[in-house]
Amino acid sequence: MGRTSKDKRDVYYRLAKENGWRARSAFKLLQLDEEFQLFQGVTRAVDLCAAPGSWSQVLSQKIGGQGSGHVVAVDLQAMAPIPGVLQIQGDITQLSTAKEIIQHFEGCPADLVVCDGAPDVTGLHDVDEYMQAQLLLAALNIATHVLKPGGCFVAKIFRGRDVTLIYSQLRVFFSSVLCAKPRSSRNSSIEAFAVCQGYDPPQGFLPDLTKPLLDHSYDPDFNQLDGPTRIIVPFVTCGDLSSYDSDRSYPLDLEDGSEYKYTPPTQPPISPPYQEACTLKKKGRLAKEIRSQDCPINTVDTLPQ
Ligand code: SAM
Repeated sequence: MGRTSKDKRDVYYRLAKENGWRARSAFKLLQLDEEFQLFQGVTRAVDLCAAPGSWSQVLSQKIGGQGSGHVVAVDLQAMAPIPGVLQIQGDITQLSTAKEIIQHFEGCPADLVVCDGAPDVTGLHDVDEYMQAQLLLAALNIATHVLKPGGCFVAKIFRGRDVTLIYSQLRVFFSSVLCAKPRSSRNSSIEAFAVCQGYDPPQGFLPDLTKPLLDHSYDPDFNQLDGPTRIIVPFVTCGDLSSYDSDRSYPLDLEDGSEYKYTPPTQPPISPPYQEACTLKKKGRLAKEIRSQDCPINTVDTLPQ
């Protein structure tokens, strides 16, 4: 693929680079904010699953000027620094990471917790949805420890078979729960965002990290909610109708008459998981599969490139 073809196929990818965002996801948060005014009155925020950092960039700009530590960003992967953003590298499903985040907000709760977390998808829809739901529950668990009453929680969800169960779990803690689909999120993707406003835990609820909300005994048949326990939340699309359609390919010269000029990525990945493979490839030591007619079993060996 030529380096300009992705720019042509994905207008938000291209605009992200032109506007200095590290990822096209920035537009999702900006379009969610357009609809829900997420940043109004926000001075402290947590960005869970933050790498490469475009949501943290948005947060730092929108609630900026508050000094370092007012945005805390967490991810499994290392992230290049962003002014005003304190970084924690860790797994949000792990107790140690949750404790580190919570420590930071003791006595000074956060107004907003966002989570754009996505597990590595397997292509097995039920497995992917389950993993996504577990990530969301881990994020919700952290949110119950750090959010101030009335605070807001926004998290990526997969609108799969069991999504009403997640809505019900979220409604226990928030007075308003909506499902939102920004224009920059492709229609072809089951991704959407749960926008939960008005943090209001049930009376007597005590956040407890030793009893995480992670659902270890998940049973999709047992967990189906219907009748009065079934919650159907409003579905909202957001992003101005005049904004670009993320499922369309656009010409490289856009309607505003500006001439296309290639823009390199804003922040190349630092220590990406494929780095080792790249180094091995450069040295001609990348393992290659050998399929031999004589050999009934595939053999993996190291071959010069
Ligand atoms: N919002 C980000 C941005 O604007 O740049 C993009 C987030 S990306 C779609 C999803 C991220 O989730 C990945 O960086 C991945 O490392 C992170 N992630 C997945 N599982 C995680 C976990 N258990 N703990 C922390 N981060 C996780």
